[in-house]
Amino acid sequence: MNDVVVIGGGPAGSTVAALVAERGHQVLLLERERGPSFKVGESLMPATYDTFARLGVLDKLAASRFPRKYSVQFFAASGKASAPFYFSETNAHESSTTWQVLRSEFDQILRDNAAAKGARVWLGASAQEVLFEGERAVGVRAKLADGQVEDLAAKVVVDASGQSALMARKMKIKETEPELKKASIFTHFEGALRDPGIDEGATLILHTDNKDSWFWYIPLPDDRVSVGVVGDLEYLLQRRKKEAQEIFQEELQKCRPLVQRLERARPCFPVKVTRDFSYRADRLAGAGWVLVGDAFGFLDPIYSSGVFLALKSGEWAADSINEAFEKEDFSAAQLGGFGPEFAQGMEAVRKLVYAFYSRDFSFAQFLQRFPECKEGVVDILSGNVFTARARAIFAPMAQMCSLPEDHIL
Ligand SMILES: Cc1cc2nc3c(=O)[nH]c(=O)nc-3n(C[C@H](O)[C@H](O)[C@H](O)COP(=O)(O)OP(=O)(O)OC[C@H]3O[C@@H](n4cnc5c(N)ncnc54)[C@H](O)[C@@H]3O)c2cc1C
Repeated sequence: MNDVVVIGGGPAGSTVAALVAERGHQVLLLERERGPSFKVGESLMPATYDTFARLGVLDKLAASRFPRKYSVQFFAASGKASAPFYFSETNAHESSTTWQVLRSEFDQILRDNAAAKGARVWLGASAQEVLFEGERAVGVRAKLADGQVEDLAAKVVVDASGQSALMARKMKIKETEPELKKASIFTHFEGALRDPGIDEGATLILHTDNKDSWFWYIPLPDDRVSVGVVGDLEYLLQRRKKEAQEIFQEELQKCRPLVQRLERARPCFPVKVTRDFSYRADRLAGAGWVLVGDAFGFLDPIYSSGVFLALKSGEWAADSINEAFEKEDFSAAQLGGFGPEFAQGMEAVRKLVYAFYSRDFSFAQFLQRFPECKEGVVDILSGNVFTARARAIFAPMAQMCSLPEDHIL
């Protein structure tokens, strides 16, 4: 019998698999893709550093061709740029530099690492359902690469299936976030203009001129940049009966600083579309099962928090699972013990997301009025979301925009 079956070989699944397997437990990781494949979500937050250090992959990342990311910079609807937020401002350590990654290669590094630590990694293996005895998860039914369907018994099932959210959908515990009903259209470009020096790898966040949508601009290897537009689902896709490519171009024309950067650039593939990606499960764990990464929840692409939260929840779930084996306790309380603190950290990002989408709110005005909040803002942009300094910005911020109630576990 497997000690643990992990569904999904993205950052969350590979992190759990590595950190549980290295403690000597039998881990089986199922990934439905047959090999490295395209994925959106390329910009990392600096706070990923600690999990990379525990996983032992910092050297691999340092030796990679992924561009270094030192900062994030915002462009207002007028086209005016903020000063870049350099992560080293609040943390002079090497961990304040991070990477812009090609997800196919990055996810592969983490899966290989899980395998090197002793996890069995089965590619082309798609979980169909989680098997239960009463309330207790006891395994996974999966279609394997050769087409056979097998029941794989396990003491713990980890759902790391990303936006598929296999368990949360099935159990009907997935709650969408009505205020964040968004869609995105994106592609890669080759030959775009980049800023020089330390800013070459910066993430740019650019509002369009009517502030109805915003673009990300993420420098990647091989002279590529990832460019995507995000807006309300209704505004971006439902209201216009047009092809996604045409909508992308229409929005691009409303974003002068980006038009300048893409003047000589060529798209690398037809645009892709994703929609309705903001949700959270209302439970994180049950008897014999736990949710990590996007399988638990995803907020919004704006601050590039997705991979960080996937890695962190993977790391904390691994600690809970390892302790569960020591105590022979596979209860919801044991497996999901990290949930309240994790959800509180997610809340910090969620509130900052709401602030970003508030029409009358501007970070420049906020920091002018409350300069003492600058470090807290940089903390959250860096992924240091579990600190009191990060939480402290929201009382002042609530004086300038409307923030949501805490969505605690
Ligand atoms: C438009 C957009 C832009 C984004 N930009 C960023 C960004 O710049 N930075 C950032 O950090 N995050 C970004 N994200 C979020 C980021 O992509 C995710 O948060 C992150 O990939 C989550 O990692 P994960 O391991 O939980 O899930 P995933 O990376 O999605 O991995 C899940 C894995 O499970 C596999 N799988 C699914 N179902 C099954 C099954 N039934 N059986 C077996 N395997 C299965 C999938 O093939 C996949 O490999 C963005 C998201 C969106 C929607």
